[in-house]
Parts: sequence; structure tokens; C-alpha cells
Amino acid sequence: MSSSANSFLKRRISRQSVIQWADNVVTVGGDAPVRVQSMTNTDTADAIGTAIQVKELARAGSEIVRITVDTPAAAAAVPSIRDQLDKMGVYVPLVGDFHYNGHTLLKDYPDCAQALSKYRINPGNVGQGAKRDVQFSQMIEMACRYRKPVRIGVNWGSLDQDLLAKLLDENAASSHPKELREVMAEALIQSALQSAARAEELGLDGNQITLSCKVSAVQDLIAVYRDLAKRCDYSLHLGLTEAGMGSKGIVASTAALSVLLQEGIGDTIRVSLTPEPGAPRENEVIVAQEILQTMGLRNFTPMVIACPGCGRTTSTYFQELASRIQTYLRHQMPIWKKDYPGVEAMNVAVMGCIVNGPGESKHANIGISLPGTGESPAAPVFVDGIKVKTLRGDNIAEEFQVIVDEYVKNTYRAQ
Ligand code: SF4
Repeated sequence: MSSSANSFLKRRISRQSVIQWADNVVTVGGDAPVRVQSMTNTDTADAIGTAIQVKELARAGSEIVRITVDTPAAAAAVPSIRDQLDKMGVYVPLVGDFHYNGHTLLKDYPDCAQALSKYRINPGNVGQGAKRDVQFSQMIEMACRYRKPVRIGVNWGSLDQDLLAKLLDENAASSHPKELREVMAEALIQSALQSAARAEELGLDGNQITLSCKVSAVQDLIAVYRDLAKRCDYSLHLGLTEAGMGSKGIVASTAALSVLLQEGIGDTIRVSLTPEPGAPRENEVIVAQEILQTMGLRNFTPMVIACPGCGRTTSTYFQELASRIQTYLRHQMPIWKKDYPGVEAMNVAVMGCIVNGPGESKHANIGISLPGTGESPAAPVFVDGIKVKTLRGDNIAEEFQVIVDEYVKNTYRAQ
């Protein structure tokens, strides 16, 4: 389904930015797939802790990782973080997230400027009044000097107050004043576009500019990006800022990003989840991948299709089997990805009874229909639509896993 669904989606035409570290080249925009990125929440001055978290995010599938660079100690730690990652064989590009003092840090810490693969600049946080243009120019000059792409990342929470005040005055004087929300949306977009134009005037290659205009409300985000997408051809970074915790954060991000991705808008995504205490940071990477995969835009890990269960389900056995298979598939992917190209598009169905079980199982690459209430204790297994076996007894999970392994080995062998 995934590859065919792709043909329904028409991507917005955008310029392509190239983000690189060593031999790892990550393109964003143009004909590149929609990229998954994430951000650490460690103190960047803690070089070991940050390098470990970057490695975990990269191993989970983050193609670009952003780190906060907010203090001299953080800037001083960046080359060491890069070095440790390189020693671990993790060549994921690092993006430095700068606010307020980026112009100074990039100048004072040239090794940091070099070790980063991209700079994020927030035009609302580069300085006030006359300092604003000077400090913005200094950051762009650094990007030109070190040949680094930039993201001009505007945020609802740190909007350029001078620009907003100007637009509010113009609106108040208008014979058809707009609502405050609309004026703020316009200020976000103008801030991004004017900053990008200024960066190009200063000599930065326009292909190397990615824009974002993040807000925290779904409808506002959709409206802002639809407008932004029409008004430029820069590559766009999508994300709902401050999405929140748990299911709220996942649902809000999915709702906003899916609408825009469906319209072909968005070249790289980040899901800004607030982690539950103790939850791994990599969850934001998994959610981003699942958004892209369920929309048929990219494949990352074989998907498990499972029914929700109902009164016909005799036990939680099928839930346990679905969970076990999902965990197993994700766990195998680092090895399978290398040895069995294409396996990431595989579908596995785990169903709870005869009502939809055999039908759904036939549609999947491999499916198992467990017995529901009153059914004989047998679990038919389907491979590419054909019933190949019926499992019985206490070892159904183990035997099903063996069938999955054999299918992968026989179907996705490297050419
Ligand atoms: S497949 Fe069977 S157990 Fe699963 S939800 Fe449908 S009726 Fe219920």
C-alpha cells in the first residue's frame, strides 16, 4: 500500500538544501524524501551525555539532530560531541540551535562553527533595534564562511516584536482590519521571508535556506504553512511547536502535519513531544516516522496491522502477540535494513478472530488470525494471501516469529 499511496501525493516544488557531515549527505527539499529530525534535551555542555543522546536519536532514525548552543560552555563542547559521535561511527549532521548570542558564539568558537553542519537562526531572537540587523548579518556571514546551510526558524512565542508592532499599526489604520491571529500569522511569514531575502543579499545560497514558522495550534499552523508555501520556494521544516505530552502531543502533531504533508507541503519534520518522565527521547523520532509511513510517504519499519479486540476476543493473547511482533520487527531492523533491502515495506497482520482476521491477514504480507470466543483453537497463517499453515498449541508466538523470519530471508534477499 505504501508505495502506491505515494503516487496520490504531489509534492510542492522546493529548492534543495544539502546538509553534510563526512560522507553523510542529507538533502532537504527538491526530490529528497521528507526527512525526520529531532532535538536533544541534554545540557550541551555535558558533551558525553549529549553525544549519547544524539547517538540514540540517530540510531532510532533521526536523519538530522539539533542541539542547543546557548552558552560558551555549550559552544566549547560541540567539537567534542562531534568527535565522540565520529568515533562511534555516527555521522548524523548536527544543527546548532542559536538564540540571542549565536553571533558571538559562532565567532568566538570557530571549532564549534565548523563542527556543526547547519545553524538554526530565530530572527525574533537575534537582538533588538539596531543590533538586530547587525547580529543577524554576523550569523549569516558565519554560515557563508563555513559553507553551512541555515534554518530561519520563526516561532509564535518569540516573534520579532518590531515587525509585529508595525503590522499591528498598519492593521489598525486599515479600513478593513484583520483579526489579531491573522496579523500575527502575517508577521510570522514576513519575518521568515524578509530574513531569507536578507540572507541571500548577504551572499548565502538560497538553496541552503530552509524556513519554518512554528505555532502551537493546529489550525493556525496549517493556515500559516499553506500561505508560506505559496509565497516562496525555500524548503520547509514542519513542526507544531510545544505539541505537548503523551497522546495529546502525538495527535496534535499528526493532525497538523498530515494535512500539510497531504498537500505536498513540508520537506523535513520534527515532532516536538514533551517526554513523559523516564520515557525515551527517541519516541519523537518513532512518531515522526510513523506519520510518514502511515501516510505512504516513506517506509522505515515493517508495520503491524492489529485489530482493536472486542467481545469476541477470548484473551489478551493476540494483543501480546501483536506487541511482541512489533517489538521484534523494530529490533531486527538495524540488521535487516542492511541484509534485506525493501523489508521496511512489509506488513504483518495480527488479528483477534474469524470476523475480519482471515480477510485482513490475506491483504498483508504475512497474517495470523487467532481464535476468538467459540472458535476452534487454531490460528491460520497467510503468506501473500495464501493460507500456508495452521498453528495450534502453546508455541504459536514462537512459530509465527519463525515464519516471519523465513519470509524476510526468502523475499528481501539482497540482489
Ligand atoms: S477481528 Fe474479531 S476480535 Fe478483532 S475486532 Fe474484529 S470482531 Fe473483534
